[in-house]
Amino acid sequence: MQKLEQLYEGKAKKVFRTDDPGLYIVDYKDDATAFNGVKKGTIASKGIVNNTMSAIIFEMLESKGIPTHLVKLLSDRETLVKAVKIFPLEVIVRNAAAGSFSKRYGMEEGHVFTKPCLEFSYKNDDLGDPLLNDDHIVALGLASEEQLAVIRDYALRINDALKEFFLEIGLKLIDFKIEFGLCDGEIILADEISPDTCRLWDVKTNEKMDKDRFRRDLGNVEETYQEVLKRVKNK
Ligand code: UDP
Repeated sequence: MQKLEQLYEGKAKKVFRTDDPGLYIVDYKDDATAFNGVKKGTIASKGIVNNTMSAIIFEMLESKGIPTHLVKLLSDRETLVKAVKIFPLEVIVRNAAAGSFSKRYGMEEGHVFTKPCLEFSYKNDDLGDPLLNDDHIVALGLASEEQLAVIRDYALRINDALKEFFLEIGLKLIDFKIEFGLCDGEIILADEISPDTCRLWDVKTNEKMDKDRFRRDLGNVEETYQEVLKRVKNK
């Protein structure tokens, strides 16, 4: 499959057209940003880690009945995916307090919730990705009530599958962000699942094994991404 012109370049990925209008090629970069683009840097080989890990996880989710955009891993940085129209929603699932949740509500990081907490924000950098409730989503025309019900159900099923998957490799899934798209009228999981988009804490040491190492200058950023990939691959 040939890469044709670039359709889009985001903070961490480029998307290319192919000769099939239904398929795109995603190319993962090493660029890292945090705090809505205010902090910028690179994490060597991050693109390889996120591309490889996302493909393994999306395949696992497919096997559990979650439809995804994954078609085929093409190289260490490239994946062939189904072309989708992305819902401009960041779907965040939290199993414990951390990050913006802790800051907003004053709850200590690591406090485990009695049930998963689902949250939506508007993918809109100019507005600073504001939080959305269900009525906001419908009022803004970002998704219908029916679509939202499907997204909610998938998000919670994905959380169950991911929690189990990561626990088996010694990682606690604190929270994560996913995105969905529409493909031939079907809602499917798109984007990526990686240490950029999940908070993962080592079960034994509670060490942060994710992008917080970059956000908070905790050191060993590259090594941590490699360690997560190693565990995912060896599973
Ligand atoms: N997240 C993400 N992209 C974003 C915002 C959040 O992948 O633009 C992920 C983040 O890595 C974490 C989860 O979503 O795993 C919850 O993030 P939070 O809302 O706490 O925001 P942050 O603390 O990252 O600002």
